[in-house]
Amino acid sequence: MIHFDNSYARLPQGFYARVAPTPVAQPRLLALNDALARRLGLDIDWLTGPDGVAMLAGNDIPQGADPIAQAYAGHQFGGFVPQLGDGRAVLLGEVVAPDGARFDIQLKGSGPTPFSRRGDGRAWMGPVLREYVVSEFMNAMGVPTTRALAAVATGETVWRESGLPGAVLTRVAASHIRVGTFQYFAVRGQEEALAALTDHVVARHYPTANGPLSLLDHVVARQAETIAHWMALGFIHGVMNTDNMAVSGETIDYGPCAFMDAYHPDTVFSSIDRGGRYAWAQQPQIAVWNLAQLATCLIPLMGDRDAAVEAATKSVHSFAPLYQAAWRRRFGEKLGLTDAEKAQPLAERLLTIMAQQRADFTRVFAGLSDGTARDEFVDRDAFDDWHRDWQALSPDADLMRHANPLRIPRNHRIEDAIAAALADDLSPFRRLFDAVTHPRDRREDWNDLAAPPRSDQIVHQTFCG
Ligand code: AMP
Ligand code: MG
Ligand code: MG
Repeated sequence: MIHFDNSYARLPQGFYARVAPTPVAQPRLLALNDALARRLGLDIDWLTGPDGVAMLAGNDIPQGADPIAQAYAGHQFGGFVPQLGDGRAVLLGEVVAPDGARFDIQLKGSGPTPFSRRGDGRAWMGPVLREYVVSEFMNAMGVPTTRALAAVATGETVWRESGLPGAVLTRVAASHIRVGTFQYFAVRGQEEALAALTDHVVARHYPTANGPLSLLDHVVARQAETIAHWMALGFIHGVMNTDNMAVSGETIDYGPCAFMDAYHPDTVFSSIDRGGRYAWAQQPQIAVWNLAQLATCLIPLMGDRDAAVEAATKSVHSFAPLYQAAWRRRFGEKLGLTDAEKAQPLAERLLTIMAQQRADFTRVFAGLSDGTARDEFVDRDAFDDWHRDWQALSPDADLMRHANPLRIPRNHRIEDAIAAALADDLSPFRRLFDAVTHPRDRREDWNDLAAPPRSDQIVHQTFCG
């Protein structure tokens, strides 16, 4: 049994469409996240039993759930789309964990909704397993993120370029409210709905905020921290559309996201990001662009227009110093330095050398605490000079070991795990999951998962799925 309490479904009708998941042919549990189930206070025996799996597949709606598809709009690659919404996801409801924290329980890939447009409402196993492992790695590194509770195979075929096995992901989030949720009401001039949404978000995520301007300040600050976290892990979200930016500050909508192996700031993986709009180094600017869209939505709620525009602009501009401070702190920790001011020029110098030599992002930083970073460079003179200056600041090895993962979910390993899962072997997926959700543990038997791809293993492009 699960006890649901559905605060979003109690909002006015225009916020969502009531829609049940579409049952699937043959549910089969691929993965269940025990640690997350415990954190939510859920009964693992029930979840893994027939009733639980039926719920996770969308075949059975448990008592107390009130399934809805949420309405939202969004800028996709800079172009505004007034209606997007959950086209392949259904929010079953919210659960309140033993510590009082509230979480959305959402099924992704659960069939068509009134927002599906031309889509089939489904997901195939590849992106489901990808999101599962990547979001849980992010969580293990302390990055605000949606999480993965379960993955279920549907026993049905999903048609993409070819026929592929379908799957449903159970996604857990502080909420699924996006910048695009605000845009949905703003573009329709629905100020009452905007005010109700603002109150809901304040009560749910920012109880100390006081009104729309204060909410904006809080979201800006939260996003500055999240994006700095991404940068420090070499993470590239890939589709930072405003409908894929959560106002809670959680990383959301893992599609063609990827971690860099060889470092270069212009790195892009997503096959649909032809202009590099969402390249690694672009992410902070894009966050500001997205936050400016949120500000635009909130201005009508702020009273006198000229004063509101001025205040909202100032709030959005506060991103830059907050982000820079978070960046210095994160990269400072990666270098074992608590003095962020001193760390910054050293971090920048190291990244410059790394970019010139396309050094492996994860291994250079992980190698700083065990003396192997030097091996990642071809021209070692530049690194040795840098190393001398860095050592002079007496870095703290424990700080470094905490900030720098030994293993990340590398693209080629994710693809290997998906290929094996398609052949009914989930052991590579499980092994990768264990290895990247314990990213700081030194384990000889996981060394292969720490290694960068050989040239024939490099993944150049990722897809939306
Ligand atoms: P995304 O870029 O994946 O965040 O999705 C953008 C929009 O397309 C959202 O409204 C999704 O719900 C919708 N969408 C994506 N894939 C599908 C699908 N297979 N069926 C229906 N809607 C989809
Ligand atoms: Mg999305
Ligand atoms: Mg998506």
